[in-house]
Amino acid sequence: MQKLIAANWKMFKTIGEAREMASDLVRRVGEIPADREVLVIPPSTAIFAVAEEFGHAKGFQVGGQNFHPEVEGAFTGEIAPRMLTDLCCTYALAGHSERRHVFGEGDELVGRKVTFGLENGLKMILCVGEKIDERKGGRVEEVLRRQLEVGLAGVSRDIPETDIVVAYEPVWAIGTGEVAGPEEIVHAHAFIRNVLVELFGEKGHSIRIQYGGSVKPKNCADILALDNVDGVLVGGASLQAESFSQIVKA
Ligand code: PGA
Repeated sequence: MQKLIAANWKMFKTIGEAREMASDLVRRVGEIPADREVLVIPPSTAIFAVAEEFGHAKGFQVGGQNFHPEVEGAFTGEIAPRMLTDLCCTYALAGHSERRHVFGEGDELVGRKVTFGLENGLKMILCVGEKIDERKGGRVEEVLRRQLEVGLAGVSRDIPETDIVVAYEPVWAIGTGEVAGPEEIVHAHAFIRNVLVELFGEKGHSIRIQYGGSVKPKNCADILALDNVDGVLVGGASLQAESFSQIVKA
């Protein structure tokens, strides 16, 4: 199983800044290790520029941070999945904690995005994760199960296992510098694995589960070595070519 190493640039970088980082990244990474897949998820305005910089550099992909689950229409401010594939995107995120908790997206909308994205040519990364009060209240499994069951409700069991990825991102670890401990990660990923097997049968064993939340060059090798960690989704440390290239090669 190839590990998926993804950079979520959030609302950072102009086109010029994005181009500069993309070409620097290609130069620093060189050949991507065979057991890795590399994905950069810029703000929408810079996706195409990054795709152009990646050009024929083998294995570098671009993705979308968000979309509205409709083909087209009167949805001011939104973009559609077919506009993302038009920009060369292979993947898109759904359910990132900032979409859930800053923009108030609920599980049903997240689930619609997952289904619609898949139907429209995108591989989907479904982000799940508990808030700190939910962890303190012993509700981690309940929250993860709900986010997975509703988020994946419309996904056919026949889908290729590489089309869907789950990213476990405990909300309290995102952008805080406070990475989840190895036991917390192993426990959450094992729980997610079990739910995926319940939902998809045998195929659930081959669906990748990424960890996200304060991943840095210094902790990523240890995190990637944990059971059921099939990649990382990186925010802050993905904004510099130096640190993200180290994570790609870790
Ligand atoms: P972080 O963000 O690496 O800055 O914690 C991760 C994410 O939001 O995906």
